[in-house]
Amino acid sequence: MDCPYCSGKTRVTDKRNSPEGVRRRRECLKCKKRFTTYEKLGRSDLYVTKKDGRREKFSREKLEAGIERAFEKRPVAKERIEKMINEIEEHLMRHGKKEVKSSAIGELVMKKIKRLDHVAYIRFASVYRDFQDIKAFKKELREL
Ligand SMILES: [Zn+2]
Repeated sequence: MDCPYCSGKTRVTDKRNSPEGVRRRRECLKCKKRFTTYEKLGRSDLYVTKKDGRREKFSREKLEAGIERAFEKRPVAKERIEKMINEIEEHLMRHGKKEVKSSAIGELVMKKIKRLDHVAYIRFASVYRDFQDIKAFKKELREL
């Protein structure tokens, strides 16, 4: 973790576990400023609600698999895809909700993929969107 003041390297001076997560006291090796970070516990605490009402634990692996399939053989650097997946995961965790609809995740992923690669976007969207949405989907295709 870099220092928020000068982006220098930091070290952890104190670490405490609390019900809300891990609290770390850090000190910058360069400017010597001190600050505290909180790491929320339980990434797996997030549940995904499916269209049919079933709930399952959020799985980054599943998310990755779906996204990587969409980017297969596309000329997009692995690092950029990885970064995008991180952003999606962080976004979901930051919300602090215990539950998120699978459709909300789908929309978020599509928005992100669209910015990276249109072919991957179409692949992902065609798997993700259900048949009822076919009109909306065609409309989007025209807009690309
Ligand atoms: Zn600093």
